Amino acid sequence: MKGSQLYEGKAKKVFATDDPELLIVSYKDDATAFNGLKRGTIEGKGAINNKMSNALMRLLEKKGVPTHFVKELNDRETLVKKVQIVPLEVIVRNISAGSFSKRYGVEEGIVFSAPTIEFSYKNDALGDPLINEYHALALNLATPEEIADIKKYTFQINDVLKQFWASCGVTLVDFKLEFGRLSSGEIVLADEISPDTCRLWDSETGKKLDKDRFRRDLGGVEDAYQEIMGRMEQQIGAAE
Ligand code: C5P
Repeated sequence: MKGSQLYEGKAKKVFATDDPELLIVSYKDDATAFNGLKRGTIEGKGAINNKMSNALMRLLEKKGVPTHFVKELNDRETLVKKVQIVPLEVIVRNISAGSFSKRYGVEEGIVFSAPTIEFSYKNDALGDPLINEYHALALNLATPEEIADIKKYTFQINDVLKQFWASCGVTLVDFKLEFGRLSSGEIVLADEISPDTCRLWDSETGKKLDKDRFRRDLGGVEDAYQEIMGRMEQQIGAAE
């Protein structure tokens, strides 16, 4: 049973349940970018992100990656395991884009010979600054063992998702993950995997099928979310 609202974030609300180990996540259509400076609505996004994230988490579970996913309740709501979020945004890049291109002064679209991983300190007041593993340890954000688990799962997730999206005719450029600790201490994948948190480019045309359409005012935002969802739905059964 859905209990009281515990938290409202930029794109999701979280509710308590009868079970202290379980929560309900409710996905909103609200969109923000640049640490909340740009705001808007992407109609239908909540349902798309909910369904996509759940399908991808089920796929990852089958491939041996533990996640917070328990059960999809309806279009927008999902039952998840309660976790304590590790305050790190874990970003994987296969191709240069976004803040990587800006920071290092390189064009977008350079295919890396190996994926990169970077961490940001999840802290809105500081604007989620880039940090390295040593800083994360110094700030007590995670233990060395937890960071090792996070890196192992992250590269595994990249392999699974890259292959899956390739089968949809989509290139996985980069994405952001968040991990959490269960009450047992076990590290699991949490948060969401969606066009809000991934860069997804059509493999043939390079068309952006993700939140960059909103961030960069490219137009066709809703259509891009619908299109990427359709591509995923066609393939997800085959991948499982
Ligand atoms: O902006 P940047 O290039 O660092 O983003 C890298 C990837 O991480 C993109 O796929 C973006 O959607 C995702 N990201 C995110 N949430 C953030 C920052 C980045 O989902 N706060």
